[in-house]
Amino acid sequence: MVIIDGKKISALIKEEIKKEVEDRKAKGLQPPHLAAVLVGTDGASQTYVNSKVLACEKVGFTSTLVKEKDSISEAQLIQIIDQLNNDSSVDGYIVQLPLPKHIDEQKILMAVDPNKDVDGFHPFNFGKMALEMPTFIPATPFGIMELLKRYDIEVASKHCVVIGRSHIVGRPISILISQKKKYANATVTLAHSRTINLDHLTRSADIIITALGRPEFLKADMVKEGSVVIDVGITRVSDSNAKRGYVLKGDVDFEGVSKKAKAITPVPGGVGPMTIAMLLKNTLLASERKVVRLDAVS
Ligand code: NAP
Repeated sequence: MVIIDGKKISALIKEEIKKEVEDRKAKGLQPPHLAAVLVGTDGASQTYVNSKVLACEKVGFTSTLVKEKDSISEAQLIQIIDQLNNDSSVDGYIVQLPLPKHIDEQKILMAVDPNKDVDGFHPFNFGKMALEMPTFIPATPFGIMELLKRYDIEVASKHCVVIGRSHIVGRPISILISQKKKYANATVTLAHSRTINLDHLTRSADIIITALGRPEFLKADMVKEGSVVIDVGITRVSDSNAKRGYVLKGDVDFEGVSKKAKAITPVPGGVGPMTIAMLLKNTLLASERKVVRLDAVS
């Protein structure tokens, strides 16, 4: 059984990115610049954004953190988005979700310049992804595809069951893994809370991708021998023995499932670290596109 080490692969990718940034700096070019917008004080969101900013520093990117109070109005947030769209020093930016309830996430998403949408959430980029055109791919599914590639996992003609149909993980990975491309070409079943006989489906799967947010949902009796299991779930579960008062749990009962799986991602240390690495990769891409545009003009 292989433990798919996302921490190791993400460190490799970050090293590759760092090297590219150094090469660019040596040529007198600006490093890529990622901005992050954080609204409110949600603990998990703050942790995610801080890790993204720290990751930028480590690879030599410039980063800007825009912190706003929960009480910010939708119009004020759109004004900030407009400023980021028009700031030529910013290559790409993210708006950390979720946003407070009084703000319409879709309106914010639509306000982001697709050329700076390094999360790949804008319908323009999502549509391009679905049509197999080059674009920003949402970081988590992008990270999963990269793990499958770097571990040389056979995907073509396999039956892949994806559990969860969110716009940021389940739906895009179901599209990507079924595409007519290397490390894809799977036959996909996309399951959700209205799916019946889910265990019947998962037992027939060669590859299972869980993105539901239900700790240890996938048990050993739901998988077949030799399957590949990719666990996207991250849930904070209270634990008075833990230093921080909680532990992180995936959607997979790792203890049981790892005994039957051929390859499996752990939580933490699996898909999670890949998300940040692929966000950096998208930002690098965004800055390269700008370089190309500027070169074309001069
Ligand atoms: P989400 O928006 O919370 O949606 C959950 C999905 O799971 C929905 O499609 C829901 O079905 C489905 N679902 C819930 N209970 C189910 C059940 N009993 N059986 C089958 N399907 C069920 O999902 P998300 O934002 O993709 O997040 C999922 C998990 O991944 C969370 O733990 C999140 O923290 C984690 N995550 C991790 C990363 C990372 O970097 N590793 C990134 C993003 C998210 P319906 O559509 O029918 O409601």
